[in-house]
Formats: sequence, C-alpha cells, structure tokens
Amino acid sequence: MKDNEIPREPSFRESVDLMFNRAAALMNLSPGLEEKVRVCNATYTVRFGVRLRGRIETFVGYRAVHSEHMEPVKGGIRYAPEVNQDEVEALAALMTYKCALVETPFGGSKGGLCIDPRNYEEHELEAITRRFAYELAKRDLIHPSQNVPAPDMGTGEREMAWIADQYARMNTTDINARACVTGKPLNSGGIAGRVEATGRGVQYALREFFRHPEDVKTAGLKGKLDGKRVIVQGLGNVGYHAAKFLSEEDGCKIIGIIERDGALYKEDGLDVESVREWIVKHGGVTGCPEADHIEDGPAMLEAECDILIPAALEGVINMGNADRIKAPLIIEAANGPITFGADEVLRKKGTVIIPDLYANAGGVTVSYFEWVKNLSHIRFGRMQRRNEEAHALLLIEELERLSADRQLGWELSPDFKSRYLRGAGEIELVRSGLDDTMRTAYQSMREVWHARDDVTDLRTAGFIVAIERVAASYRAKGL
Ligand code: NAD
Repeated sequence: MKDNEIPREPSFRESVDLMFNRAAALMNLSPGLEEKVRVCNATYTVRFGVRLRGRIETFVGYRAVHSEHMEPVKGGIRYAPEVNQDEVEALAALMTYKCALVETPFGGSKGGLCIDPRNYEEHELEAITRRFAYELAKRDLIHPSQNVPAPDMGTGEREMAWIADQYARMNTTDINARACVTGKPLNSGGIAGRVEATGRGVQYALREFFRHPEDVKTAGLKGKLDGKRVIVQGLGNVGYHAAKFLSEEDGCKIIGIIERDGALYKEDGLDVESVREWIVKHGGVTGCPEADHIEDGPAMLEAECDILIPAALEGVINMGNADRIKAPLIIEAANGPITFGADEVLRKKGTVIIPDLYANAGGVTVSYFEWVKNLSHIRFGRMQRRNEEAHALLLIEELERLSADRQLGWELSPDFKSRYLRGAGEIELVRSGLDDTMRTAYQSMREVWHARDDVTDLRTAGFIVAIERVAASYRAKGL
C-alpha cells in the first residue's frame, strides 16, 4: 500500500473477526480451537422464483450457521436490499457470541433475503416469505431442534407467523412445530414482551451500567440515567422501544432521532410516540412537526449528547466519522454499527462502548423464553399466578386482622394492596427473566474488564467471556 492511500475498511465479517482476534489474543486457547470457534460452519444460498404481477421474479436468500456447539442454532432473518453472504456470516458469528454471553443455549445463525419489503404488497410478501421458508425448512434450516429463526431488520411478527405456518404445513405431525421460529404473534404461539424485548434489553443494559458509578465515571458521565440526553439512530422496532422506555420510565431526554431521510433535533426532548406515529404514516421523518428537519441524518451521530444509540444498521460509525463522534457513551442496539477501525479510534478517545453482543441480546433472550414456552406447551405463570395471589391475600388478611384485634390502627395503602395482591403473569415473568439476564451478563463482562489490566474495554471483555464458553463447550465434546 502506498503511503498516501487510505486503508480499506474491513468488511462487516472481517470486522467481527478482528474483534474476535483481539480478544482471542489475550486468551490461552489450544492450537486450532481459536480457528474452530471463529469460522462460520456453513452458509446456504438459495435462489428461488415467485410469480408476481404476471412474471416470475427471482430472489436470493441466505442462511448462515456459524457455530453448532449448541443446537438449535438461532438468529434472525433480515429483509433488506443490501443483504449478502458476508453480512449474514458476520451476524451469525455475533449470534454465537451473544448467545454464549447471555447464556441462551443456542449456537449462532442468521438469514437474509435481498429484498426491499416496501416495494411489495402484503400478499406478495406472504408468497415470498412462504417460499423462502419452504426452501430453508426442507433443508432443516428451519427446525425446532436444529435452526430457529427470529425477526430482524425488515421482518416482524407477521413474517414469523407465515414462517411458522409454512413449517407446520410441511410437518403436520410435529407437536413442537411452533418452536421452529420465534417472534411470532401471541395468537400463533408467541410470548408476551417479545416485540419490545430488544429495546427493553437496551434499557435494562443502561440501567445496569448506571448501577456502577465507577463505570459511569469511566465514560466521563455522572449520576443516574435520569436527565441524560440521548440520540437514537433508527426508530424501528429496537430504536423505538429503547427510546420510548428510556424517556417514559427513566427520565432520559431523546434529543435526536435519525432516520433514513434525515433527522429531528430538539434540545428539550422529542415526543417519541408522535415521531413514531409520523414515521409509520409517512415512511420517514420529513415534515414531522415535532421538530425541525435536518437533511444530513448521519451528521447527527456527531452531535453532543450523553448517550448515542445506533439502532439501525451496521458500519454507520466508521473511519470516516469516528474521530468526530462526541458521545462519551455509545450503546450498540444495532448489530455492528461501529467498524473495527472506528472502535480503535473511539477506544483511544476514551469513549465507552456497550457492545452489540451484549446490548441487543434482549431479543434472543426473550426468543429463548418463547421457544421454551412452545416446547412446554403452556403459558408462563399459568400454574402459579392465582396461587401466588392467594398467598399474598392470606398475609394481607392476617395483617388486617391483627391490626383490628389489637387496635393498632394500621392501614395498608390501596396501591400497595393492589400491587402486592397481583400474581405475576407472563409479561412480568418475561421482563424479570430479561432483567436478570441483562444484569448477570453485564456483571460477567465487567468482571473481566476490571480484573485484567490487558482488557480495557467492554467489547473485548464480552468476547473473552463468550469465546471461553464456546471453547468450553467444544472441549466438552472432545474437540
Ligand atoms: P427495523 O427494520 O424494525 O428498524 C430499522 C430502522 O432503521 C427503521 O426505522 C429504518 O427506517 C431505519 N433505518 C434504516 N436505514 C437507516 C439509515 N441509513 N439511517 C437511519 N435509519 C435507518 O429493524 P430492527 O429490528 O429494529 O433492527 C435494527 C437493528 O437491531 C439491526 O442491526 C438488527 O440486526 C438489530 N437487532 C434487532 C433485533 C430484533 O429483535 N428486532 C434483535 C437484535 C438486534
């Protein structure tokens, strides 16, 4: 390379591999095992035709299986025009490390279809999705015990319901058919809290981060989440839920929202609900009366704020803008929003990055709960809820009896009584399980971050924890 040449940024997969290598170099893996953990086991490419609008249109789709140290393998299906093999392999690798870090018993996988879903009618998308699902299912790339997809960019509950139904049609006697995919609507075997799960996980991750004043200080911040100024890129499933919960429940101010067609900025905080409504109706932020429209969306990534949440797509913080990013704390709600090169620049600047393999693991965590629910054929909380309520009532009645008998004059507040008397339903249990997962995983990363002098960032710490778990699993298999 000549002196004045700008180095090419690595591809998404190379970027993930470089992050892996950085962590693996600090570990003591036996020869060959490092390579075994890093490489993507297999990628299946399918080209299929669907008759649409009087002609046959050919689509290209992928399903990559990164690691089968645990099965089923798990990972979303993305619908976007830029989907390619490199991208699905990078995302599949991230799934392996993510599942290991948050202790969901899955290997990593990912799928994608090269399509802009906005260009198709609903019935056309259904025909395309069913055909794609058929192609994958007939090769066991959709299967309750081998490969379980979920939503990702461009897909949601609707697509998952079509996939589940397609699998069930092909496997009419499989009693566990519903466990072939997660992220389904409630009426098709879904679980309460799956749609919000990834955004909710981002909120829980930030809450856990702010429980550690030492870590907050490392980011150059002070105090609690309350009042923090936040910029979000991508107000889709993940970004919307994260922004909504952080503003409604934690007192954060969402000062900036970046979408495909520009950005909105309001110093005293945007109303997330109104912006979302506008985007759903108009397809972008242009014309939204909530705030002035800024044409150059990506430039907003460089604005002053306390917390930056990239929640759209990969590579948005790269060698071209990394040195201008001012946020002291970045939480990667999207997968791979920071390239390897940018990560190095930001680390040197002292920016704290809460990495994707942890930050957006809420989705796969609740998918895990959904899969367990499908296999157990019963809703969480169904057996114990009323029993819990009966126990709580016993205690309340006894307290009230004591107070009356002994003339103590105790009066339990109606709010306490109604809250205490409410047994946990599925949504409460799902949120509790997710919260526990996000706290525990953060602590496991943090322990490595603080215990080792050679580990200076959360990403490397997260990779070390994850790689060690995957390696242990391979070792246990005798590899
Ligand atoms: P989504 O399709 O619901 O939302 C993506 C949003 O980003 C949309 O609002 C879109 O308009 C916006 N966007 C697209 N290109 C943009 C651009 N160039 N600039 C600004 N905004 C842009 O997708 P999602 O499910 O919210 O996924 C977002 C990210 O989160 C992806 O990286 C995905 O892999 C990751 N993720 C999603 C889940 C999940 O459960 N859905 C789980 C883990 C990780």
